[in-house]
Amino acid sequence: MKGILLIYTGGTIGMMEDPASGSLTPLNFQELRTYIPEIRRFSFRVDVKAFDKPIDSSDVQTQTWLEIADLIHQHYDQYDGFVVLHGTDTMAYSASALSFVLRNLKKPVILTGSQLPIGKLRTDGKENLITAIEIASAKRNGDAIVQEVAVLFDSNLFRGNRTHKYSTENFDAFVSPNYPPLATVGIYIKYEWKHLLRTQGDFFVERHFETDVAILKIFPGMSIDYVNAILNIPRLKGVVLETYGSGNAPKDAALISALQKAIENGICILNITQCSKGFVEQGRYDTSAGLQKIGVTSGGDLTTEAALTKLMFLLGKGLRGKSLHEQLTSPISGEITTFSSISD
Ligand code: ASP
Repeated sequence: MKGILLIYTGGTIGMMEDPASGSLTPLNFQELRTYIPEIRRFSFRVDVKAFDKPIDSSDVQTQTWLEIADLIHQHYDQYDGFVVLHGTDTMAYSASALSFVLRNLKKPVILTGSQLPIGKLRTDGKENLITAIEIASAKRNGDAIVQEVAVLFDSNLFRGNRTHKYSTENFDAFVSPNYPPLATVGIYIKYEWKHLLRTQGDFFVERHFETDVAILKIFPGMSIDYVNAILNIPRLKGVVLETYGSGNAPKDAALISALQKAIENGICILNITQCSKGFVEQGRYDTSAGLQKIGVTSGGDLTTEAALTKLMFLLGKGLRGKSLHEQLTSPISGEITTFSSISD
């Protein structure tokens, strides 16, 4: 057993109340370590790489994802698994982004954090951290059980790129609406073997994100000025279009023509649903047939977090047009359900 690398980026888990302002600010890892003496009780090494300046995850940028990915890449052979301590606010974005950058993982990368700081008596941080380390070290027949980016929170281990933070107050803050848990945590950790990802080929890292992207959320009464303001952002290359139900939008001619013009100008429009469960099926209703006709790409059951980061990743790779459309609609690391996988 080589051990586990714990990457501390920040988040509530390592925050303390500032006596002057009363707001939560991040501790450095040395300060945090005093609250978790349990780390020394594992029978294997748990080494730590901490961000010099731990951050609230609202401050996460694409550079942060690359920094985490680079740490994992540099230390990939030295450890059996990786645990990333991260704020919950953007954890689903980071887990999705990392699942695209870290290709053909054969080791676990487990993101976790907490709703209450580790210094609080009722903290959920200790349990989450200890369980995440246990999962990151779990093996069967010499191979890692989890070989993908996952989020461990409360009693569930979810595929990272399927997660969404749904609660600001519950200890089970995350859901995975369109994919079952990879494991459930009680007195035993029960792995769901058939849901775990397995990939062919050697591990490698693809590090690029395009930030000239936008999210356009449809709402009743929206003005065409709002739509045009987004579609005319300078250098815009891709838009996640958040539509109603199974991918529907108003049939308004001005909206369809604005989207069509954007597509003709090379901007990719990726259609995902505002519903938290289910998928886009363009053409099922009249109100989505127009989108299909002008070349909007169906995002199936991608979450907003996975759709946005996947678009940023594939655009960053330089993909455009048909090849971009093809890759957006097929899984890179289990983030989207395809019809063939449903009938399997
Ligand atoms: N604002 C915090 C963060 O995302 C919230 C948390 O960690 O739960 O960093």
